[in-house]
Amino acid sequence: MESVRCTTCSTRVLVEKYSEAHTSIQWLGDVDSACPQFAESHPRDGRARVPTCHNLQESIDGLTLSGQIGMSLRSYPIPGRLE
Ligand SMILES: [Zn+2]
Repeated sequence: MESVRCTTCSTRVLVEKYSEAHTSIQWLGDVDSACPQFAESHPRDGRARVPTCHNLQESIDGLTLSGQIGMSLRSYPIPGRLE
């Protein structure tokens, strides 16, 4: 997995891309306090909603476009770690 930093809130996540439509994001640490957008997208009413940060999503898209995140040859996520 690749380590990606949100350009807006500096939250670090691990990303693995399997296809154009399938990107696996592994959130690390206390993202609720780290990323304001993530905290805002968190379900408060108990309904299932995938929390995300749009700025981070754009960072990932940009890295994918520039080829810095390659397509994974694996079909499942492997545990990542920060170095
Ligand atoms: Zn963010």
